[in-house]
Amino acid sequence: MIKYISKKNIIYKFSSKNKPVETALPGDMVIFETIDCLSEQIRSEDDSISTIDWGRVNGATGPLYVEGAEPGDTLIVKILDINVSDKAFLVTVPGHGVLSDLKFSSKIKMLKTSKYTTTFGSLNIKSNPMIGTIGVAPAYDEIPCGDLGRHGGNMDVPILNAGSILYLPVSVKGALLALGDLHALQADGELCVSAAETSGEVLVRVELIKGRQPRYPILENRDIIAILAFGNTIDEAIHAVTQYAVETLMVSQKLSFEEAYMLGSLIVNLRINQLVDPKKGVRAEIPKDFVKFEDFLSV
Ligand code: CA
Ligand code: ZN
Repeated sequence: MIKYISKKNIIYKFSSKNKPVETALPGDMVIFETIDCLSEQIRSEDDSISTIDWGRVNGATGPLYVEGAEPGDTLIVKILDINVSDKAFLVTVPGHGVLSDLKFSSKIKMLKTSKYTTTFGSLNIKSNPMIGTIGVAPAYDEIPCGDLGRHGGNMDVPILNAGSILYLPVSVKGALLALGDLHALQADGELCVSAAETSGEVLVRVELIKGRQPRYPILENRDIIAILAFGNTIDEAIHAVTQYAVETLMVSQKLSFEEAYMLGSLIVNLRINQLVDPKKGVRAEIPKDFVKFEDFLSV
């Protein structure tokens, strides 16, 4: 039986204090019905950015209690399918995005969208439905869903799409998984501060690794394993992700630091997730010929 969590169950902070709305056993499949990142406050291009309640951003559906999950474990979230609504929106907000220093006005653009195509004006662009915000509860603090960190959160990773597997370090009993902020399409960087923001449904399967966890969230797809790191600056994020990648190559290939550092120059791709949130997100993509997930647990 597939469990279903409706979009009536929304959190705005990842917190151990959130009451679980559903329970799953490792191996269970769960559908999360999600709202868009502005809590369905935008309906048309005539709506005003100025009336938006910014306290209700990046709402995530959940949390889901995973039986048997305890601090020190790793929650495996297999993204089996993502369905998006037939419309999405983009916004510009003065003072935000990569060009936040330039003068521009606030604007809303509505997009027609589907799993396959996103229509921007007269341009039909191939969709890539993905999850912007997904995470578990942190041990102590309450972390707003607009922020990101070791618990996951608003990571905005364009390759977090159907077919990918996310590994999240568990910090509280039951893990307390929640997700939302779907994008029908987003490029690396999320330049203007928003992507093709939409609602929808996500089908996942949850599993557990007991007693071991990676330093940062890890994403795996058919070809690569990616470290999802973050920092207060892009430089800080790049340093963190590179160090973890090199240390993992030392383990997986039994190399000295110097040799692993050199191999990294040949095979590790650093990519930007987003540059427009309070913390910047980067990923290091390593082809699966050179690492397996377990290698990340040993460093
Ligand atoms: Ca986001
Ligand atoms: Zn978003």
